[in-house]
Amino acid sequence: MGSMGLKKPKIILRKEWDALPPERNNANYFLYSRDIREVYYSIVLHHSADLANLVQDPKAIIRGIQEEHMRRGYGDIGYHYVIDRQGNVYQGRLLPVRGCHVYRGNTGRMGICVLGNYEAQELKESQQDALVELVAWWAQYLHITSDQILGHCDLNATACPGIHIRSFLPLLKKAVKNKVNI
Ligand SMILES: [Zn+2]
Repeated sequence: MGSMGLKKPKIILRKEWDALPPERNNANYFLYSRDIREVYYSIVLHHSADLANLVQDPKAIIRGIQEEHMRRGYGDIGYHYVIDRQGNVYQGRLLPVRGCHVYRGNTGRMGICVLGNYEAQELKESQQDALVELVAWWAQYLHITSDQILGHCDLNATACPGIHIRSFLPLLKKAVKNKVNI
């Protein structure tokens, strides 16, 4: 397979954002029994829909999302990764655990959430770079084709991930296709 010059994204781990421990017995915290390379076939982009600025501590925002998702019964933060306004990437729920970010369609779908409201905010270049790097890395490892890089709105009736991420999707797919030999 080989990563062919792809750079492994720098991930800010759960302990670095003081994640609460997941509820391991929660039905929405489902641990796949197969190798994740046999499980994942799709990557889905979301936004947090809150207007995120650069003054707020992104770690506190992510903890807030986790707490909200746990109140809703997801057992942990629903997304596998979160990207902040600076383009930093944070670890969400662990990848061997099924995500909780699509209505009736979580199996085999990795969830990535970008902090901010992309109906109102533009994606920064550093965020675009982070998305390309993260998605390319996992597309290579999991053999995900560019047509399976989706926005939440492709699966459910929602504006998520917002117009500015939706309009970036074709560029993302193209950039990933150029980087990844699949
Ligand atoms: Zn969404």
